[in-house]
Amino acid sequence: MSTGSDPKPTLARPTPSPLSVSYPVVTPLSPSVVYASATPDALDAQYEGATHGYTYAREGHPNADILAARLASMEGCAAGLVLGSGMAAVTAALLGLCKAGDHVIGGDQLYGRSLRMMAEDLPRLGIATTLADPTDVASVRAAIQENTRMILIEVISNPTLRVADVEGIRALCAERDILLVVDNTFTTPRAFKPFDFGADVVLHSVTKLLAGHSDATLGWVGSRKAELMDRMRVFSITLGLTPSPFDCWLAERGLMTFDMRFERAQSNAMALSEALSQMPGVTKILYPAARTHPDHNRAMGLTGGQGCNMVTFEVAGGREAANKLAEEAQMPPGIAFAPTLGDVGTTLSHPASSSHRALDEARRNAINISQGTFRVSVGLEEPDALIDVFRRAVAASQTP
Ligand SMILES: *Cc1c(COP(=O)(O)O)cnc(C)c1O
Repeated sequence: MSTGSDPKPTLARPTPSPLSVSYPVVTPLSPSVVYASATPDALDAQYEGATHGYTYAREGHPNADILAARLASMEGCAAGLVLGSGMAAVTAALLGLCKAGDHVIGGDQLYGRSLRMMAEDLPRLGIATTLADPTDVASVRAAIQENTRMILIEVISNPTLRVADVEGIRALCAERDILLVVDNTFTTPRAFKPFDFGADVVLHSVTKLLAGHSDATLGWVGSRKAELMDRMRVFSITLGLTPSPFDCWLAERGLMTFDMRFERAQSNAMALSEALSQMPGVTKILYPAARTHPDHNRAMGLTGGQGCNMVTFEVAGGREAANKLAEEAQMPPGIAFAPTLGDVGTTLSHPASSSHRALDEARRNAINISQGTFRVSVGLEEPDALIDVFRRAVAASQTP
């Protein structure tokens, strides 16, 4: 009902929160695109950094800053930046810190879009690139040129779960004054802290394990070096790599349970990898915490025994068996055949038809991916029920 004191509807001002002596226990969602300041002098003070105030959401907003600070404290650095996707974080590091004439080395099994940026976009902008095997320091050393500015690696590769020689690569970077950038998406700060191993820049697809519910697309990039951080921040604002406040709010909520989710997913992954290794028809199984993994010792050294939540395996029978396996795995109560990772639910991906479809058969074989290879992002299900799904699916794949 209208009263005489209502503001005129033509004056668009926010409605103040109803007066309350209590306070909410959840971070407020702040979708405001623009923020009002008291006077031009007050605005000057904000822009000059004498006071802190928001002005325009592309340049920063409370939900992004709250999430960025939480992630920075998990990684052990003072500052970080939340961006609109994991690829926005890769962009901020590669394009925000390199210039035409520089050379960048990337791990040869980086995330598919990162590989594409190395192959297509950086060269188009005058930044030369070389891929090298990050499990082999000699291969990385051989790729270094006079103008090498940066090395970008992931600690555990997708989908073959090889473990990078981070310490060896760090030593090379120190020797040649090269920036070391670590994409820590698979390992997460619970299993690996890149800054403690000398990384200059750390980045994440927050979309995956950190947010954890497949409902928010976000990235994070951080550095202990203020100069690098400033350059990435200014560049990201100019390019508009800004995240949505709602996604930041969802991810902050997801982070509240991250530790517990990670522990459960990791113990499920260990149980699943052991069960798969006993199943007839399974010809290969890769889990970094398993003794049979080719990089087991290095994985133990870098991640302190954490195996993370990814398991890769191969069934006999090629594509035909793979089709049967994916179909049976989705029969209720089954799991999703979907090319993502880090969700609360287990997801199954088939690299030869998704992440690695651009490679020809010979190049896939060279990195041990066949038509029978699956990568599992293990979720939080009851472990026996999960193992039953795989027992059914693997058996179906081997039935003529
Ligand atoms: C998914 C992923 C990315 C890209 O993140 P988006 O949020 O999808 O843009 C980058 N690196 C790794 C290792 C990833 O798994």
